Amino acid sequence: MRSILKALENGKILISDGAWGTYLHKLGLEVGECPEIWNLTHRAEVLSIAQSYIDAGSDMILTNTFGAHPVRLEHYGLQDKAYELNKAGAEISREAAGDNHFVLGSIGPSGAILMMGEISEEKVYDGFRIQVEAMAKGGADAICVETMSETAEAVLAIKAAKEFTNLEVACTFTYQKTVHGYYRTMMGVSPEEMVIAVKETGADIIGANCGIGFEQMIEILEAIRKVDKKTPVLIHANAGLPIIIDNKTVFPETPEMMSARVKKLIDTGVNIVGGCCGTTPDHIRAFVKEIRGTEVK
Ligand SMILES: [Zn+2]
Repeated sequence: MRSILKALENGKILISDGAWGTYLHKLGLEVGECPEIWNLTHRAEVLSIAQSYIDAGSDMILTNTFGAHPVRLEHYGLQDKAYELNKAGAEISREAAGDNHFVLGSIGPSGAILMMGEISEEKVYDGFRIQVEAMAKGGADAICVETMSETAEAVLAIKAAKEFTNLEVACTFTYQKTVHGYYRTMMGVSPEEMVIAVKETGADIIGANCGIGFEQMIEILEAIRKVDKKTPVLIHANAGLPIIIDNKTVFPETPEMMSARVKKLIDTGVNIVGGCCGTTPDHIRAFVKEIRGTEVK
């Protein structure tokens, strides 16, 4: 079995992939269309995204399954296809990754908030179980629980992955800077609280993704490293803070702007570096050049 933890053992920095959502829209996914159905209806396009990150030099890629929790798929009437969509997503990324790269099965929030009593824990947990079992079957090496803002939900996803698969588990939360200058998720969770909760549940890799760029991620990483020196940390940053130009969301940071902050991230204690919204294979190429000193065509 491929082990990300083993690959990190000698202090090696691993490079992850970039955005999927914004990339799918570039390839024609319509606003309001279910991204994960493309694993069946537009397999070649999804494979081309996975392949483009492998070609750019990523050590690992995620899967087009971020929104494939059955509760979230209900919005499209696709809840009965959850297993199939998750399995296909893992299979597509496995095909691109081959034997020498890692596949992390992406799991995003269910879309319902536990704290508000919108949904039962059992229903959320059962959905995560379907996702992790399908992605293990489809060939994922690890599960990446991401864009989390509520501890209770993240804990259920990690538990499901640990209970129903033997895969390694990464878990990353999404933060915003408050007016007081510190970082909280939408549900008010601090980086320090995240570390304690997800490690207790058994996550092998912790970190942050989406919402903000590397500049802010460095501050979150400092907060994480204050309470945890050892657990590997994964950072998937956006290409800067999004701005609106002509009614369109634009991510302002170029590959050069982002890669200029990679050294500082490494010095602060990151182990896996990748991108979230707005990042492209060109961003990954720039990270590879910065970290490995090699150019990838
Ligand atoms: Zn994102």
